[in-house]
Amino acid sequence: MNRSNARGWIAAAGCLGLMAVLGAAAPNTAPPKAAPTKTARTDLDQKWKQDLQGVLREDVRRLADPAWEGRGPGTKGQELAGQYLADHMRGFGLTPGGDEGTFFQTIEVTTGVEVGEPGGLDARGQRFKVGDDFQPIGFSTNGTLRAPVVFAGYGITAVAFDYDDYAGIDVHDKLVLVLTNEPGEMDSTSRFDGNVNTPHAELRTKAINAREHGALGILVVNGPRHHAGEPLRKPRADGAGYMTSGLLAAQISEKAAQAMLPAGTTLASLQDAIESQGRPHSVALKDSAVVTVTLKRTKAVIRNVVGWVPGRDTTRTLVVGAHYDHLGFGGESSLAPNEHVPHVGADDNASGTAAMMSLAARAAARAKAGRSPLHNLVFCAFTGEEMGLVGSGHFVDQPTRPVESIEAMLNMDMVGRLRDNRLMVMGVGTAAEFADMVAATNRGSDAFDLKTSSDGYGPSDHSSFYKRKVPVLMLFTGAHVDYHKPSDTWDKINYEGLAHVARFASALVDSLDARPRPAYIVAKADSSVGRIAGGGGYGSYLGTIPDYMKTEGGVLLSGVRDGSPAQKAGLRGGDVIVKFDGVRIDNIYDYTFALRSRKPGQEVRITVQRAGSDVDLMAVLGRRP
Ligand SMILES: [Zn+2]
Ligand SMILES: [Zn+2]
Repeated sequence: MNRSNARGWIAAAGCLGLMAVLGAAAPNTAPPKAAPTKTARTDLDQKWKQDLQGVLREDVRRLADPAWEGRGPGTKGQELAGQYLADHMRGFGLTPGGDEGTFFQTIEVTTGVEVGEPGGLDARGQRFKVGDDFQPIGFSTNGTLRAPVVFAGYGITAVAFDYDDYAGIDVHDKLVLVLTNEPGEMDSTSRFDGNVNTPHAELRTKAINAREHGALGILVVNGPRHHAGEPLRKPRADGAGYMTSGLLAAQISEKAAQAMLPAGTTLASLQDAIESQGRPHSVALKDSAVVTVTLKRTKAVIRNVVGWVPGRDTTRTLVVGAHYDHLGFGGESSLAPNEHVPHVGADDNASGTAAMMSLAARAAARAKAGRSPLHNLVFCAFTGEEMGLVGSGHFVDQPTRPVESIEAMLNMDMVGRLRDNRLMVMGVGTAAEFADMVAATNRGSDAFDLKTSSDGYGPSDHSSFYKRKVPVLMLFTGAHVDYHKPSDTWDKINYEGLAHVARFASALVDSLDARPRPAYIVAKADSSVGRIAGGGGYGSYLGTIPDYMKTEGGVLLSGVRDGSPAQKAGLRGGDVIVKFDGVRIDNIYDYTFALRSRKPGQEVRITVQRAGSDVDLMAVLGRRP
């Protein structure tokens, strides 16, 4: 899955899934081809099962090799991984399902930023160049700002915590100087959730809050109390953070911050005043400063890898998918953000990719032996999942077979850490038959201890299909401490368990292939996915389903949840939210900020662009389900 806030939420929620999408089969269409003898059939499947564990191990080991650079967008490693998968699909005998007769669907994306010239800070005659004292933040806009400076404490406005660094000060058209983190950072009794950081500590939250108070720029400095001497971090060319915050933003050293403070005042004394009294000590400074930022957006071409086995009835399709991309060298979604090393993603999601490929190999071998499936079986290795379901979003816009023909989608994301025989299956509420079908498939001595959830939305690629009203199943063996860290390595995979999951997935596909089209239903939202992913609810709930492909100019909705506050307010798919209770909405971060800063029960005015005009809607915010 994907990042913090927008990315964050995706990140926290992301990559949770297991998957299993299944298709449904049509009643009686084409008569079966000449059935091979029972012996041949048994041999083929037995051979597949015998070899399975070794094949899966080899694929996971290859995909999670550090030489493939964590399969990050824009890396040579991801390109090589894509080529490896395409070569195997060709070897199995799949039909190319990508652009112009190839196995690839190409997508151009922004992957991050590089710092350019000019850049720096001028404060009271001192010049701080890009380097140890000044680093633009990845979400900064470009330009130069000369403005008076206001010290705005931690830069936090937190109604729920009765704390506002902006109370009683005017930062309109000014440059704010704020501390990183939040009051009582190391204090387990702090009202800011003890010593756990709240979203108020995130730089993105501080920047949007400054902008919403009218500031034109924000300078962030590490508080000397707990972070003295920590080096500044460069924005990364391979990270997220390219959606701008709408103002100039940079991190500066304590030395540079000190240059802006009046004689006799130290940054440490300002921080101590806030900490000791537990209330803001914001103050307008006498002098102006000049900030200049130049960032260049880096672009890359990324690729879905798609191959398929034509069915006996080519009007009916099942999709089996797994994302093969991961976090590259880290970036915003990394849970080890200070380690610029390959995040190899063996469980997330070399495991699901290997399982998907094993199903592709089996289907192709069976077709070759005269046992073509009834449905077209489309196998997708998605890219850009960690960036926000980019590859699967592209696929449903330009599918190999028409979206209307897709009867079910099976997704696998993080299926390599089977413990206590426990497998999670999400999406069982997205088709009338799924609960029974999944239970019936899980019989016998080989049965898992299944945990199911009904929802078809979740932090992985099946969401892209469910948005298009395709019933989905998603398989997942659970979160673990190595999630989104460089330590998610191939040697920690339970290969026997992974083979077990692959056999189960293949049985689900067989079952889907043998039944009529599953009846799509609107699944009940449940919070189990969020709990599994470790993402906690925070702030208010509206029930919108954003389209993460649109990254600026507002938040495009691909739909709204049934019975949600959004639906009651009249919001609908296709709307672009541009304003939320006075907060300007340019991208998903702004939107997350707005939702978090308002309380359940509050009535808010939401402005959307619909069919070329602005429409105002009133919504009463709910509580997260
Ligand atoms: Zn994942
Ligand atoms: Zn992930």
